[in-house]
Order: sequence, then structure tokens, then C-alpha cells
Amino acid sequence: MLRVLHTIEDVREQTREWRAAGSSIGCVMTMGALHEGHLSLVDAAQRECDKVVLTLFVNPIQFGPSEDFARYPRTEEADFRALRDRECDAVFAPATETIFPSGERRIDQVRTKVVVRGLTDVLCGLQRPGHFDGVTTEVLKMLHIVDCDRTYWGEKDYQQYAVIRAMVEDQGLPVEVVPCPTVRDVDGLALSSRNTYLDEGQRAIAPRLYAELRRGARRIAEHGIDVIGETTKHIAETLLARGFDLVEYVEVYTGSLGPAVAGTPVEELRVFGAVRLGGARLIDNVAVAYEVGR
Ligand code: AMP
Repeated sequence: MLRVLHTIEDVREQTREWRAAGSSIGCVMTMGALHEGHLSLVDAAQRECDKVVLTLFVNPIQFGPSEDFARYPRTEEADFRALRDRECDAVFAPATETIFPSGERRIDQVRTKVVVRGLTDVLCGLQRPGHFDGVTTEVLKMLHIVDCDRTYWGEKDYQQYAVIRAMVEDQGLPVEVVPCPTVRDVDGLALSSRNTYLDEGQRAIAPRLYAELRRGARRIAEHGIDVIGETTKHIAETLLARGFDLVEYVEVYTGSLGPAVAGTPVEELRVFGAVRLGGARLIDNVAVAYEVGR
């Protein structure tokens, strides 16, 4: 039976009860508008933990002033139905004031800010100033509220996973951060709540992002790190030619978001891309290891 919890006290009481019964607890953090990508994290948590909590909170402080906080899709009733079907144990759906009682709605209004340096200075961190500070500040708070053993994160947002893993390590939190593979539509487009912003024509273009990143990853797998520069340039040009409005970045980093330097094994590399298409900003990434030997 899905328990719908709205207050911090209710979550603490529930997790205390589960702990007292000796149950392990897994947590999946989301902004709602749930799709099979989110639900795959619930499935992974259910496989490894006795009880699963999903948090559903559109976190205002991770959005920039000109970003889509106001129009971000909110589909709470459908989300609860999906979680009931998946036999999730509890959903924590707090009001904004519950998480930010002092009225903080932007990262620059926050008093205690959590910043992971270095990892947030590349890729989306450059394109969305303050975004990851908003994520880590809120996620650390959620981890203090939901007393979990494991927390599950999608590789679709690989940098977010890497940043949270680093925060948990730096803070010595007793929680395992588990990465989960990206769930895609049949045509390869990574599932995302923001895909609803795409019209029919844009939706037909969108899968090219994954297709081109994969092609690039395959080329790097075959020819090594010397071709990274020309490959990323070629991907960016091809994406523009395919109809994307803007390419924010196409770059290659290791799985720890370090640079690809001489001697770095190609298996450690990932190709990252971010584009704009109509009203949507789409991101994706592909592990080169996945393409080695294909
Ligand atoms: P969001 O609600 O977009 O903040 O995402 C919540 C969690 O779901 C994050 O860990 C995301 O990385 C993960 N997620 C989102 N889309 C996908 C996907 N297509 N496949 C796997 N995980 C995903």
C-alpha cells in the first residue's frame, strides 16, 4: 500500500518504524511527472531494499531565474497511480514551504548552501550557474529527512549523479549512491519529463542527439582519444544540421568527470551532449565502454 506523506515528521516516523522492524530503505528522488525512467529507479530500489520511498518535489532553488520552474509539468495524481501500480511503499510529496520554510525560492536566497566544487565547473554547471548548488543543497536536506541505506540516480543526468556521489563521500554520509542506466524510448530518445515540451516535428528530431553521441562514442572506441576533438566538433555540426536550435556542448570526460588525457583508457570515457530544441533543453550521454568492440 502506497503511503502518501507530506510532512517531515511523518517521513521520520515511517522510516523509524521500518528501521525498528529491521528493514533496509531505498530512496528515489524526483521532481515528479513520472515516466519509466523514474520507475526503473523504483524497480532497482525494490530489488535491493526492503522498503522504497520516492520523493516528489519540484525543487525551486535548482532552477535559474529564466528557466522553466513555473511551467515544469506537475502530474501528481497520475504519479501516485503509477507508484501504486509499482507497489512503491511511500511517496514524500512536501509543500515548498515544508522544505524551504524561510521562503527561499532561488539559490541566492539560501543561507546554508552545499557546494561541490570542481565537478560543477564543467558541462551543465557552466550552462546553468547555481543549478548544482541548488540540487546538492536540497538533496542533502532530503537525505537528512529520509533515513535511507541507498539512493538511486539515473545516468541520464550523469553529472548530477557524479556530484551527489562526491557530496555523499565528502560528507561521510552512511548511504550508497547507486547509478542506474538511462531508459529510452524505442527510437533512442532518453525519457525526460521535459520531452512534453516538444511538438511533433521536434520530437522527430530529438532522437538524433543520442544517435550522434553514440556514433561519436563508437568512433572514439575505434580510434582512441586522439580523435576526440574532431569527433565532438563533428557531432555538434551534425546536430545543428539535423535541426537542433543550439548545441550547448558536446564534450568527453571520464566517469569521474576528469579530462581525457594521454593514457586515459577509452573505456573510462563518456560523451556528453546538451542541446536546445524549441522550448526544451535536452541532455544525454553515452559511455564509450558500451561501444568498445561493437
Ligand atoms: P528528475 O525528476 O528529472 O529530477 O529525475 C529524477 C531521477 O530520475 C534522477 O535520478 C534522474 O537521473 C532519473 N531519470 C530521469 N530520466 C531518466 C531516464 N530516462 N532513465 C533513467 N533515469 C532517469
